[in-house]
Amino acid sequence: MRYLSTRNDVGSSVDLGQALKAGLAPDGGLFVPAELPAFAPDAFQSSTSLPATASRLLAPFFAGSRLTDELGAICNEALDLPLPLVEIGPDQTWVLELFHGPTAAFKDFAARFLAACMARLREPGDPIQTVLVATSGDTGGAVAAAFHRRPGFRVVILYPDGRVSARQAHQLGAFGDNIHCFKVQGNFDDCQRLVKQALNDEQLSQSLALTSANSISIGRLLPQVSYYAHAVTQLAANASEAIDVIVPTGNLGNALACILARDMGLPIGEIVLATNANRTLEDYFSGQDYAGRPGIETLANAMDVGDPSNFERLAWFYRDRDLRRAGISAISIDDATIRQRIVATWKNHQMAVCPHTACALESLVRRREAGNDRPHLLAATAHPAKFEGVVEPLIHQPVQLPPALAELMNRPSHAEPLGADYQGLMHRLLEIP
Ligand SMILES: *Cc1c(COP(=O)(O)O)cnc(C)c1O
Repeated sequence: MRYLSTRNDVGSSVDLGQALKAGLAPDGGLFVPAELPAFAPDAFQSSTSLPATASRLLAPFFAGSRLTDELGAICNEALDLPLPLVEIGPDQTWVLELFHGPTAAFKDFAARFLAACMARLREPGDPIQTVLVATSGDTGGAVAAAFHRRPGFRVVILYPDGRVSARQAHQLGAFGDNIHCFKVQGNFDDCQRLVKQALNDEQLSQSLALTSANSISIGRLLPQVSYYAHAVTQLAANASEAIDVIVPTGNLGNALACILARDMGLPIGEIVLATNANRTLEDYFSGQDYAGRPGIETLANAMDVGDPSNFERLAWFYRDRDLRRAGISAISIDDATIRQRIVATWKNHQMAVCPHTACALESLVRRREAGNDRPHLLAATAHPAKFEGVVEPLIHQPVQLPPALAELMNRPSHAEPLGADYQGLMHRLLEIP
């Protein structure tokens, strides 16, 4: 498989290894596979585990790269996480719990996969690579856990001080070893700007072998396709027709993976992008021109995105088709409704859900009220215990921490304060032993 840039689709192409190492295409575009493989709707019926589904689904994407023969091992190492499908209600509705990895959010699948690929791309004599990551809460932890104690790598996390949950902050600083954590006196956009500046600083980038692990890496998108393929294959046997899927969405990484799974032939019906009060996608899918804007803060803070970075990829895949007639819709949910849905889900299903997952549940309720009785799959993106400050007061119950998260919470945590200026970051980066 060759990979092109979204901004240069007749230009030169690279293989997967090169696309993974570069992160972003040289012209500033995002890497996309030159074509999508096609599968029969029941192609994965005989596969009994996510790693098995992933190794078959992703084989065409790995063809012709240095990682071809490693794909099976990468999937076994990175994707062997629990993936429960929980049926709620009598009307063919299932929740796909993507939060049983080490940091209790769906980003574990992709971060672990990317780390497993990057480790195998290293060559003898390569310098230690520094993975620089800006996070609004979940990405930093997932990337840190994926690279923790991996020889040849260190991770530098930048998070906005005071703007992640108490548990998220503790978790980010609790790894130690080759993970360095900075609390930036600024907002998430400041953190992202610092990372971009550092990556664009050729001298610094060279001397630290800097690389990024943000959600635009093709190495994060690909593994996410596999859990949709695996889940709908399991459900298709019990469902009366193709399954509609609702995905909580910020940067459109997780949702684009679902769209690609459908384009490759899996039995997925309509796809709903459930956002928080950031309305860019709802406005677009209701007919307005695409208008990226600054993100606004909400209870579902991992989706506080006003200009989803993967929109450019989505538009590229649909360059010859009308994206607004593609069986994709978007719905924006405000904070008050998120709160109500968390309460109602606890009452109706005895299920505690995080604010992001609540957006998907609210979309489901509205679709059912509008008379839609098709089978539905909802992606649950984080464990509710990660957002205890929102969830616990609403359901008047403590939410038990999953074991991996509890273990991190028991470790000491340390984050160094850092001003939101580039010179300061540069000096600190160069001082790290
Ligand atoms: C990152 C994140 C999202 C948004 O995912 P995208 O791929 O950016 O759309 C949703 N929910 C949770 C809990 C997240 O951590």
